[in-house]
Amino acid sequence: MEYRLLDGKATAARLRAEIAAEVEQIVKNGGRRPALTAILVGNDPASQTYVANKDKSCKEVGFAGDVLRLPETTTQEELIKIVNDINANSSIDGLIVQLPLPKHINPQAVIAAISPDKDVDGFHPQSAGKMMLGEETFLPATPMGIMTLLKEYKINTAGMNCVVLGRSNIVGRPMANLLSQKGIPGDCTVTMCHSRTKDLAKYTREADIIVAALGIPNFVSADMVKEGAIIVDVGINSVEDKSRKSGYRLVGDVDFDAVAPKCSYITPVPGGVGPMTIVSLMQNTLKAYKAKAL
Ligand code: NDP
Repeated sequence: MEYRLLDGKATAARLRAEIAAEVEQIVKNGGRRPALTAILVGNDPASQTYVANKDKSCKEVGFAGDVLRLPETTTQEELIKIVNDINANSSIDGLIVQLPLPKHINPQAVIAAISPDKDVDGFHPQSAGKMMLGEETFLPATPMGIMTLLKEYKINTAGMNCVVLGRSNIVGRPMANLLSQKGIPGDCTVTMCHSRTKDLAKYTREADIIVAALGIPNFVSADMVKEGAIIVDVGINSVEDKSRKSGYRLVGDVDFDAVAPKCSYITPVPGGVGPMTIVSLMQNTLKAYKAKAL
């Protein structure tokens, strides 16, 4: 089957250009730049890369803001104090705390401390609750980016049988919720699978859309996918590759080469969901800025 790439890289670049044009207009009219602050605690290499990418994209669209790098030994109380200071700072519109946090810090306690007005990651219980009810709120960046991608490619998801692999609070669970909501993209019949699912392939073989968010390289194989399915690969896994200078390469949760020929649409890794996640964060920051400016 002839498949089409769901090109997150190109789509995100277009959306970033739109945000940048809007920011320039704001500045031209004498407004201040929207600002996003990211807090990074500790030295997790993957988190450092994610935060650096987010910071780079922020600068690219003309946002102000910075990355607060805190030592691994930061206590929960110290971190919450910093979050409260940022909540009170009216020149910062969005705040994200990069996960995972060191083991001695309870992530839920820190997320709950973020002002819902600045919760551009959409992880605060208030944002999650509103999303669940289909109310206007900040949506979590990765599922939001996937919804935008499906919309940009004008995929009519109504009535589709969708299988979400993974049930994390940041990807799987909100993704399943959004795809089940009324409207396009949405109106899907959704099944959420996880590590306790029995005979997972039985579900994926019936799926019109598979969203894979497990964190297991090449987990989804060709025999798990029906002809014409739409595949969204959220996974970002680093696997050894001695042929590369870096010694590794990034792969998704889907065996792309084997699965792509069976698909109608598929996201590549890298260049699929990753850039859409970052641009969604930018869109949420602009939204937080505008809500305050009104
Ligand atoms: P988590 O580790 O929080 O969740 C993984 C989920 O996969 C869990 O629900 C787990 O089940 C399930 N799972 C694990 N093993 C199996 C299995 N053998 N069979 C079925 N289900 C299984 O991961 P995240 O949701 O945070 O991230 C998932 C992937 O997406 C990672 O590779 C991450 O790097 C990537 N990611 C990419 C982003 C992007 O922008 N592209 C953004 C965020 C994440 P259980 O709950 O039972 O343990």
